[in-house]
Amino acid sequence: MSYDIVIRGGEVIDPSQRLRKVCDVAVTGDRIAAVEESIDATGVHQVIDARGQLVVPGLIDLHVHVYPHAPLGLDADSLCPAGGVTTMLDAGTAGSYNFDAFRRDTIDRAKTQIFSLVNLSCIGLIAANLGELMDRRYADPEGVVATIERNRDVAVGVKIRAGTHIIGAGEQGWANLNDAIKAARESGTWLMVHIGESPMSIPDLADALSPGDCITHCFKGGSTRVTDDNGRIHEGIKAAAERGVIFDVGHGFGSFEWEVVQAALDDGFEPTTISTDLHAKNLHGPVYDMPTTMSKFLLLGTPLERVIEMSTTTPAKILNQEGELGTLKVGSVADIAVLEQHSGRFVFTDSYREQRIGERLLTASATVRRGEIVPGGGGTRMRHLAD
Ligand SMILES: [Zn+2]
Repeated sequence: MSYDIVIRGGEVIDPSQRLRKVCDVAVTGDRIAAVEESIDATGVHQVIDARGQLVVPGLIDLHVHVYPHAPLGLDADSLCPAGGVTTMLDAGTAGSYNFDAFRRDTIDRAKTQIFSLVNLSCIGLIAANLGELMDRRYADPEGVVATIERNRDVAVGVKIRAGTHIIGAGEQGWANLNDAIKAARESGTWLMVHIGESPMSIPDLADALSPGDCITHCFKGGSTRVTDDNGRIHEGIKAAAERGVIFDVGHGFGSFEWEVVQAALDDGFEPTTISTDLHAKNLHGPVYDMPTTMSKFLLLGTPLERVIEMSTTTPAKILNQEGELGTLKVGSVADIAVLEQHSGRFVFTDSYREQRIGERLLTASATVRRGEIVPGGGGTRMRHLAD
């Protein structure tokens, strides 16, 4: 049996199969062909030497902005090899008025697998600085439903940024949130809510959500947060997580505070998924890429296998791609990330400019998307050594 690619000798971690061992992975066409202790690589087109490295399912980043025609949008196909991210969820950069253009110009052309949420605001984040729902006329629940119905294969849910300076205060804030909830229910999908300095408390907001809906930026600091005055997770938040509300990291420019994350983990509250919220303003820090965000959880004591699971298998389930993506099962899509684990003393910065020193840094050294090695890599360009 001859293969197109063999990845040799890496430590394979695949949470979908509870697999962690040193072995080889072979790819034929766009599928995983074998995961075995020793695969004969004679005559194989490309061999990746992964000794001393991790081999995991292609990473899935559940919160990015990759619509380049919006001011914050990045290019998906360069983010892919830089972070080992083969699947991305665009978190509502486009709304009902520009989603078709986003699809035509970006989603359909990218080699990276892009799924997307549709913003409740018809203009998406084209003028995000002005607050896309400050004027209620921009809220377009019917347009969201129609857009999702036209694009079922890639438009998987609804997005709202629930900050007071975006959706308005008091009744206006609730009216916008309720429109977003309505659009999610009527389209048979789910809602991702960006929590910011929100007009309602986070427990009240979580109460309004259904199982499968998602709170992103779950570890933000500031006045509205998932922790109470004693630094414990609100009971209402724990209850929401228990009934299936998803808590997504969405690190971003202003949404990841060491103290909140630490308090949550100490209280036994893990995020459901790790994601970056990468956009033009945080790409060069403090976020950089998905492996850097994952390394922050290693620093905080989350076990490596859990960190991989929250960045692969779990987001695949949320995207209804279980068994296809976020797995190295034989027959699944050949999306693979080879990650290098560096040891040293590395500086990691949160969204509030606080620094901590970690001893492990993950970087993407090789990425396979649909059976092809993607040009480029993460390297160690953002390795900040302490001292
Ligand atoms: Zn975002």
